[in-house]
Amino acid sequence: MIRAIKGTRDIFSPEVEKWQLAERNAREICALYGYTEIRTPIFEATELFARGIGEITDIVTKQMYTFQDGDDRITLRPENTAPVVRAFVENGMDNEPTITKLYYIGPMFRRERPQKGRYRQFSQFGIEVLGTENPAVDAEVIELLMRFIGSTQVLEYRLELNSVGCSIDRPRYTAKLQELLRPQKEKMCADCQDRIERNPLRVLDCKVEADQPIIDALPAIDEFLEEGCKIHFAAVQKYLAMSNITYTRNKRLVRGLDYYTRTAFEVIAGGLGSQNAVAGGGRYDKLVEELGGKPTTGIGFALGLDRLILAMPESAREPGGVKVFIVAMSDAAFDYAYEKIQAPLRQNGIGCEVDYQRRSVKAAMRQADKRGVDWTILVGEDEMKDNAATLKNMKGGEQQRVSINELVEKLK
Ligand code: ATP
Ligand code: MG
Repeated sequence: MIRAIKGTRDIFSPEVEKWQLAERNAREICALYGYTEIRTPIFEATELFARGIGEITDIVTKQMYTFQDGDDRITLRPENTAPVVRAFVENGMDNEPTITKLYYIGPMFRRERPQKGRYRQFSQFGIEVLGTENPAVDAEVIELLMRFIGSTQVLEYRLELNSVGCSIDRPRYTAKLQELLRPQKEKMCADCQDRIERNPLRVLDCKVEADQPIIDALPAIDEFLEEGCKIHFAAVQKYLAMSNITYTRNKRLVRGLDYYTRTAFEVIAGGLGSQNAVAGGGRYDKLVEELGGKPTTGIGFALGLDRLILAMPESAREPGGVKVFIVAMSDAAFDYAYEKIQAPLRQNGIGCEVDYQRRSVKAAMRQADKRGVDWTILVGEDEMKDNAATLKNMKGGEQQRVSINELVEKLK
């Protein structure tokens, strides 16, 4: 037997109806807030991610699916902010006088150890706003995210918020971190020893137990933030309060991608074990320039749909289309049901299915029950003679004889 590749999986009913609900809500909410969809390619030049995400991030050093294609190095996209920014620049959207608001839904690829909530192909829903520093937009992006999660009936989730500063204050903060960490370097994990030299901010993200006391003793970024960042962060919080969005301030929150500036946030959901981050995002005010565009500020989030779906209750799903199951009691009755009942019901937009398996009435009724239809229609010789059908309500159980001319009206 040929199996699906490790870390990938098939999604079908009944799980797929949860995906459909989540995706429909995502599209509706994006439309409500003025975002249009962008669909970018699944693969891109490797350099886009190396430059965009940061050379020493986990994604770029360990997780990318990269291959040689003739003379080109190509990578399956591990995230979609860098591709969206690439498209933004390539299509001249950075020349528009307006701001650009985009959303995407689609698969991403990372070569990590597969486990619950962590796959090698997974899907993200994300949004990006390019062209404004207005802190109200930071709040809007977060509000859209929270409203979307709420719409999927996930009950337990919380927002964590931080500011990671900008190119003015970050060097002062990272210099301070280096100064404090270097003398204790030997006591820290191998990753941190590397981070201290190459990207000290990422030490804050370390999950190794033994390193925590050292990290907890480090100063928070607050006292280093320059005036502009402070004002911006205060304003983001003001607008969040206006939208009644509650959050915890997490002074150690830094994201796993290097492009973030100022606002950074994460949403954590309950019941997911250690893979409990459902979404992350923040500002990236230098990324457009870094990727060759006109200086343009940006902010967005990416939400992991696989994890969100794990957190959604069973009741949150798109309803099935079939409302009526039709059971024929003889060969002649089957043809009658096929032509005179199934076809007109479908023509009138009533989802139905005739029982093709033609087993006993009892087996057919069990099948109808399993499918959760609202009605079954029974046809035998008697019904045919009268140009009628027997309609049975699956909830109440009551049965009535209805002329086939009235069936559509009755079922609508
Ligand atoms: P984690 O800390 O769990 O590795 P991350 O910081 O790598 O997450 P981001 O790159 O910010 O995650 O991606 C945003 C969201 O995408 C995550 O919050 C998560 O819900 C989802 N995600 C990331 N990697 C995976 C994966 N391998 N499988 C499933 N979902 C994922
Ligand atoms: Mg990760």
